[in-house]
Amino acid sequence: MPLTPLHPGVSLPFFIAFRRRLEIIPLVIGSMVSDLEILFMMPFTGWDIRFRGPMHSLIGAVSIDSAVALFISFAIFPFIGRWVKARYGKLRYHIFAGKDVTEAPKSFGAAAFSASLGALTHVLWDAWSHPYNPLLWPWDNVPGLNFAPPGDPFFVMLFSQLLTAMMLALLLEMYWRL
Ligand SMILES: [Zn+2]
Repeated sequence: MPLTPLHPGVSLPFFIAFRRRLEIIPLVIGSMVSDLEILFMMPFTGWDIRFRGPMHSLIGAVSIDSAVALFISFAIFPFIGRWVKARYGKLRYHIFAGKDVTEAPKSFGAAAFSASLGALTHVLWDAWSHPYNPLLWPWDNVPGLNFAPPGDPFFVMLFSQLLTAMMLALLLEMYWRL
């Protein structure tokens, strides 16, 4: 259960391998949107592991999560990016991995694939690192479907946070130089 902003540490390695086929913004946003449902579920469930629902499932990753990530990538992100570029353009915050991220993705197909891939990395990474993740929603909580390693859940969670944070730091360092 890494913190939401750490999740790109798991999706960005795919960008190294398939740079020409993937769109980085939908990939990164796709790997974070699943946690939006926690905000909507929490008023009903309280602070309970069951606040993960369809957006943390395999089917949700390639449908709802992907659609939300595409909407953000095309309709919201470019505007925020342009605002940042207008004010801080000289600092080149808008250039990431050699790309101007204020531009909407060029190919819708590549963007949709990237968003789904990003979301799948999220739900699969969550699945091994916390005790409840409805991967096969709507078939809820199928026994044996969590890959959480044996051991104290607190240490499993701590380990996943540290591992993801290290991966993200390494990747960011690498990409900013591209
Ligand atoms: Zn999550």
